[in-house]
Amino acid sequence: MVSTVSAAPQRSSSQASSLQYLAEVNADTSPNQSLLPLSAAVNDQDHLVIGGCDVVDLIQEFGSPLYILDEQTLRTACQQYKQSFEQHYPGESLIVYASKAWNCLAVCAIATQEGIAIDVVSGGELQTAMAAGATGKMLYFHGNNKSAEELQLGLEADARIVVDNWHELKTLNQLAQAAGKTATILIRLTPGIECHTHEYIQTGHIDSKFGFDPDQLDDVFDFIAKKTDSVNCIGLHAHIGSQIFELQPHHDLAEVMMRWFQTASQYGISIQEIDIGGGLGIRYTESDDPPSIDQWAKTVCDSMVQACEAKDIPLPKLLCEPGRSMIGSACVTAYTVGGQKTVPGIRTYVSVDGGMSDNPRPITYESVYRVLAASKMSAPLSETVTLAGKHCESGDVVIHNASLPTLESGEIVVVPATGAYNYSMSSNYNRVPRPAAVIVKAGQADLILRRETYEDLVRHDCLPDSLNIQ
Ligand SMILES: *Cc1c(COP(=O)(O)O)cnc(C)c1O
Repeated sequence: MVSTVSAAPQRSSSQASSLQYLAEVNADTSPNQSLLPLSAAVNDQDHLVIGGCDVVDLIQEFGSPLYILDEQTLRTACQQYKQSFEQHYPGESLIVYASKAWNCLAVCAIATQEGIAIDVVSGGELQTAMAAGATGKMLYFHGNNKSAEELQLGLEADARIVVDNWHELKTLNQLAQAAGKTATILIRLTPGIECHTHEYIQTGHIDSKFGFDPDQLDDVFDFIAKKTDSVNCIGLHAHIGSQIFELQPHHDLAEVMMRWFQTASQYGISIQEIDIGGGLGIRYTESDDPPSIDQWAKTVCDSMVQACEAKDIPLPKLLCEPGRSMIGSACVTAYTVGGQKTVPGIRTYVSVDGGMSDNPRPITYESVYRVLAASKMSAPLSETVTLAGKHCESGDVVIHNASLPTLESGEIVVVPATGAYNYSMSSNYNRVPRPAAVIVKAGQADLILRRETYEDLVRHDCLPDSLNIQ
């Protein structure tokens, strides 16, 4: 039986327990502000429950480690984005899921079902989104170095192609001419807006590999205006960065983009779509305090309306491209505790059966996560330990200074907020097979990614005859 949050066992008076993170979960929460999926609860065995499924049982059924994706949280984020834009923007709008956060068939299919378009950044993401049902104008093809082959795929799919640079513009123009087609494009520009986030995930400042420099605008529009048979520029795009908590940079973006709009008009190019990118942050720890999806939507919608009124421009179709804030909070990763090592007077290492191969964010960005004891949710957090991964790399630490109860080998811990840039950035480092992923809802768990096998790992290996041992 699953208890509601309020009926959950009380935490010990002296020390917090893993239950503390359940307190912030309720149906009205903006998913990106909740550390745990919205369906999180605890049952009378004191186990964590997601989507009505006992996490300890899920590990028994599907193995460990395991990505557990909560359908309710993902759909709620899709719906909150859509409803907030409908409410705050008087013109047309479209939400585009930045699928690089987690691109697989099931996730793309849910977004598509919810009426959300898909942003892809490679031929592989494009093929996956199409296989999940996304078509033509519901596909936005990004990337700063799309190959000719990828551009051809985008052209054949009638995807909207977000052109990043001169090389791409010219290649696409040639491909479209050769195919006798007109490519529908958006132009990506670097807005010169700085924001406070990790250096690797800032993209909006001028010294960025992404997008045309605004100084090139006249030349770009001049080129496009002369190639109307092969390229039809319908939109402008900018993306200022990721895991952003400030609203000001997104507020400022509208004015900058509408200036570009005016430049386009001077060349007879009528811009119909303004795509402001993604970037809204999520809560990874209790000290993260991002604005809600609705607050963010209100900011970007209001600032676009203001910028258009000030310049006397009719409202364009407004697009945004959330990735992290769409799926980050919907997933947790469950691990099984293995060995432990205490270095006297220094620290205790508690090792789990995954690490940088299923979640490369800590080693890549020094990202900080929390951990819950899924198999004893109300146990006091009596220990401060280093939660270590299993990979041959000293930096393979899932969490430094993790607060946990005393745990035995075989117990289950859960790291929340692993929906974005975990599976999608995963690797087979040390030839560790990628974990399975399940989607959970109303007590039902379905596989969405099969666990890799050792056979999968050698599938692309080739053994020249001279090395064949048989
Ligand atoms: C990564 C990316 C996004 C999504 O960013 P989030 O921070 O995950 O919302 C949107 N648009 C573009 C072009 C991107 O590269």
